[in-house]
Amino acid sequence: MAEGIQLKKGRFSAKLSEALRAYYRPISEDPVLLGARLNQKNIQSNSIFYRVSKGPALLGWVVYDPETSTIEELVPSPPYSLKKIVVQMLDALIAAETQVSAHVLASDTEKYAELLAYGFRPVRSFNDKGLAFVGMELSTSVLLHKLKNKKPARPYRKQEKVAIEKVPETQTPAEIKESLTRLLAKLGGIDTFVAKGQTVVIKPNIVSDHGLKDGVLKPGIVTDIRVVQALVELLLPIAKQVIIAEGSSINRSETAKMFALYGYDRLVDLDPKKVKLVDLNTDKLIEKPVPAGKRMRSRKIPVTLDKADVIINLPVLKNHFAAIASLAIKNLQGAMPPLEKYMSHFFGLWQNLVNIHHLIKPQLTIIDGLCGQEDFGPVSGTPKTMNLLIAGANPVAVDATAMRVMGLEPSASPPVFLAYMQGLGPIEKKQIKVLGPAITQVRQVFKQPQIDVRGGKDLRIHSGEACSGCRGYLHFVLAKLRKDDPEHPGQRVIDRSLACKANIFLGPTMNRAINSAEVNLFMGLCQQQHAALGKHLAGCPPHAEVIVNAVYGLFPGLEKPKYADETEEAKLGKLLEEILNVFL
Ligand code: SF4
Repeated sequence: MAEGIQLKKGRFSAKLSEALRAYYRPISEDPVLLGARLNQKNIQSNSIFYRVSKGPALLGWVVYDPETSTIEELVPSPPYSLKKIVVQMLDALIAAETQVSAHVLASDTEKYAELLAYGFRPVRSFNDKGLAFVGMELSTSVLLHKLKNKKPARPYRKQEKVAIEKVPETQTPAEIKESLTRLLAKLGGIDTFVAKGQTVVIKPNIVSDHGLKDGVLKPGIVTDIRVVQALVELLLPIAKQVIIAEGSSINRSETAKMFALYGYDRLVDLDPKKVKLVDLNTDKLIEKPVPAGKRMRSRKIPVTLDKADVIINLPVLKNHFAAIASLAIKNLQGAMPPLEKYMSHFFGLWQNLVNIHHLIKPQLTIIDGLCGQEDFGPVSGTPKTMNLLIAGANPVAVDATAMRVMGLEPSASPPVFLAYMQGLGPIEKKQIKVLGPAITQVRQVFKQPQIDVRGGKDLRIHSGEACSGCRGYLHFVLAKLRKDDPEHPGQRVIDRSLACKANIFLGPTMNRAINSAEVNLFMGLCQQQHAALGKHLAGCPPHAEVIVNAVYGLFPGLEKPKYADETEEAKLGKLLEEILNVFL
């Protein structure tokens, strides 16, 4: 909770009605407006009326819709002005509710300006009961900054167990299976998670073909098939069916090729009647509402996961250049169908990773730490042999433990921190009982990627407190331009002379004025308010393909690198556009 501020649930009172009247009278005497704002029934039937006070002083009210995580109303209590109390009230609200949206009357320019200054960004306009509104989303970067070192308002109370098991350096299939058996025994054995006759879905990480190029295996990118095989062998005597399910993230039409490339298709031979592979990118879908809908109110998930009795999440111990770590929380992004993956970027990747865990709940996570990946993970880093397996029932506790093994603070990963702050699991050491060797005995510090978002001679980057999302993805693209320029030997492509100086703005704060005589790119939700002043790259963070197209567009004649199957990406982009036309 913000310093000395109390947030208490109350009722729609005569005092609130009076405060609304006092607040709106100078904005408009329009009876429609006043009627709509002063009548409780016209706000939201399920709204929470938060009274915000400091000691004996009532600062004001926040009317909040918990189903959509939206601020419907924020009003000061006379004699306070909005300007005087808005930051304290919002700080108190986000300490309790974390990621929130806001609806502001289009004619309420003061509130719009205050929310914008705080870190909310306009994402849509709409009409309700004859009134024009602006829908605003809070920048996740601002949210993460505000919540730094804070504890969840509704903490996860249970102590979770996370098991760690060393695997012999020789890593023979028999040794891996024995290690896996010992690992699971620490948690009560596989029978604790799977009952006789159940259908079990294993979700490994087979993100792309980067782990096996030109016949050369590069470990630490995809889940080691030997761990999957050992797990299938342990499951076969118990389960009715074992499904290995994945939806590749890069080149989304190619999951089947990835299964074949890494030899996963041979796992079916272990018992062709019971073992099968499923491409989650082409699976049937079922739409599910997201509890306390933050950023997205519903998501379409594959029926294979919805129908499974047990889901076992099987990620790799690896870095992620934007999410910091790609472990249990991040691995379920691959479980979403292609358009949902694309939409996650558009509507906020970090929050939507948390949302997925409300809808798909693996009973067990096993992290493949035979070989991890440090530096520029998840696909372009360096293998790091760890000879470890890590497992537990709670994905947040497992990720927190795995991150400590990698020498990272769990709160450094935005999706892990948000999952913790939203009560999905613990990250505190005292709430996680580590079974097996102590973390200090197995910790090896993973080298972190050096994120460099400096521009070139005519390309300037203005990074105003952007989070690791935009910084990581922009680095990913700029790094491709820091190579020798074949047209100008001795010079880097990024330093080419441009016809007009160009700027890329990212993050929620501005450290330079916008010069309309130059080319300006505005990245992500944090820069959404400047969309009309140049080219806006939508998303949070924008999809890599969107950034590649925009940045390469600054360099005429420069051939774009191939990130993924362009036809597939263009198809998804078009589908998303159609959805947004309906949504916005
Ligand atoms: S728009 Fe970019 S900087 Fe802002 S919160 Fe999203 S990912 Fe972070």
